[in-house]
Amino acid sequence: MPARRAVILLSGGLDSAPAFAVARAEGFDCYALSFDYGQRHDRELDSARRLAAALAAKEHLVLRLDLRAIGGSALTADIPVPKGRSHEAMGAGIPVTYVPARNTIFLSHALAWAEVLESQDIFIGVNMYDFSGYPDCRAEYIAAFEHMANLATKAGVEGGSRLTIHAPLIRLTKAQIVQRGTELGVDFGLTWSCYEPQPDGRACGACDSCLLRQKGFAEAGLRDPVPTAH
Ligand SMILES: [Zn+2]
Repeated sequence: MPARRAVILLSGGLDSAPAFAVARAEGFDCYALSFDYGQRHDRELDSARRLAAALAAKEHLVLRLDLRAIGGSALTADIPVPKGRSHEAMGAGIPVTYVPARNTIFLSHALAWAEVLESQDIFIGVNMYDFSGYPDCRAEYIAAFEHMANLATKAGVEGGSRLTIHAPLIRLTKAQIVQRGTELGVDFGLTWSCYEPQPDGRACGACDSCLLRQKGFAEAGLRDPVPTAH
């Protein structure tokens, strides 16, 4: 029997690479999906391309979506990225780096591609704990999207095929994600988390995403191979 196909949302960040590695370890043929959505920098997208190659994706599709035309986020509009926030401050509300409905937009495209590939499995690297307070990273959101997806597609309605949204990291801390990825052979040097890369190419070390990443590596007792300014 040929391997089952899975569509993996591959941002290039810290979480999506281990999510991809989990899918691969479960025996799926992995189809990587990334978005050139008008984000502040294309460093993360370069990482996605390198990770797709390193993780042996069957295909890597980079879709262009102009979310900058919608704006409303520090990642897609000229709004400053918060720096040096405490973990408590990060947990206190939804930050300006939230991109309106981003995971719904991304998962909807993954759903369409999965239907064409006759895949019943989509992987996304969201997690509920060490995250930035984004509402579309919660387990109830993933369950609701999965329910919707099975009502939404021809494959679901006529084909009797049951689509599953896998979020294998959802209950892991950043440290556990780093450990899991390391066990599965992820080269974290290829990943990128920083919202504001420095002119010299290093990560800023102060944005929420850098701080969560540093906390993850520190708690896992591992060294982050990505060079950081602080
Ligand atoms: Zn940063």
